[in-house]
Amino acid sequence: MTATSIAALVREDLRGLTAYGAPQLDVPVRLNTNENPWPPPEPLLAEMAVALPRAAAELNRYPDREALALRAALAGYLGGGLDVAQVWAANGSNEVLQQILQAFGGPGRRALGFVPSYSMHRLIALTTATSWVQAARDADFGLQPAAAAAAVVAHAPDVVFLAAPNNPTGTALDPAVLTAILEVAPGIVVVDEAYAEFASRPSLLPMLRGHPRLLLTRTMSKAFAFAGARLGYLAADPAVIDALHLVRLPYHLSALTQAAAVVALRHAEETLATVARVREQRDRLLTALPALGCTVVPSDGNFVLFGGFPGAVPDAPTVWHRLLQRGVLVRDVGLPGWLRVTAGRPAEVDAFLAALEGVLS
Ligand SMILES: *Cc1c(COP(=O)(O)O)cnc(C)c1O
Repeated sequence: MTATSIAALVREDLRGLTAYGAPQLDVPVRLNTNENPWPPPEPLLAEMAVALPRAAAELNRYPDREALALRAALAGYLGGGLDVAQVWAANGSNEVLQQILQAFGGPGRRALGFVPSYSMHRLIALTTATSWVQAARDADFGLQPAAAAAAVVAHAPDVVFLAAPNNPTGTALDPAVLTAILEVAPGIVVVDEAYAEFASRPSLLPMLRGHPRLLLTRTMSKAFAFAGARLGYLAADPAVIDALHLVRLPYHLSALTQAAAVVALRHAEETLATVARVREQRDRLLTALPALGCTVVPSDGNFVLFGGFPGAVPDAPTVWHRLLQRGVLVRDVGLPGWLRVTAGRPAEVDAFLAALEGVLS
């Protein structure tokens, strides 16, 4: 078969889509995917050097299908009296999001997002054959309770997506917006808290009580310095987790992933000690970028959306390209006039700011 005929065999509704593709380039300064720039702490690595060979010695057997030890550790980390039956884990929160849409979306169903937001919400909706509808955020990328609720009423979505803080804008989510949405939403409401540990606002976790259709997704990819391991999780009503069991693949979480994540959670405090340092660099970006004549969006995450490029520089893709030529990779999220930069280590932020100054002058 030729390549052309294979393309013709792909599901019609997938044909126009572009795959997720944040560039993975080998450049000195990588500030484009919002990871924690500090590696996992030494004591964690030392314990993993014991735990992983132990798990490896039993790789002839399938892993614990329920990942109970890991889910209990996640429940303990989240606190608030959460029980293991209220916590679910998968290979990255993207897999959790996919399972949510497999169970609660799908053909003939609709998901709503408030854009700009995390591009994977839309893409996972479409790849699970869930229709996608979107409402625009305010000019400052915030949301107002009445307008957000009105969008939910207008579209009657089976699944609503919110991100707190929002990516790529860094905008915090006012709990009043969530309350207004929960009052009118006919289906599931997902709050993606991928950046919760960086936020100055508290997690929306306490709102789970009394709201069985509220789902909170989290990840170990960002503050937890664990993106390479692929571990995302969810807190929700036990009935939600029952539903996810219908769509998850058997033994979806490998024994190595489970063992590594349990070790990482035992060292949560040391790992999360880096959060203060990351926030310092984020706050530095929020001050230094305006000093270079750029506009920034106030951020509660570990990244900053910046734009309003001064001088003769034409557009965001050009700035992105010229930064890359200087060895600095940031993210073009496809939002005209804006780029997103991750709060890296101090030397990386130095390099980024120096490169940008060069590009803009
Ligand atoms: C980075 C990110 C995720 C993380 O996805 P993983 O699959 O857990 O690595 C989820 N949601 C948002 C909004 C993100 O920015």
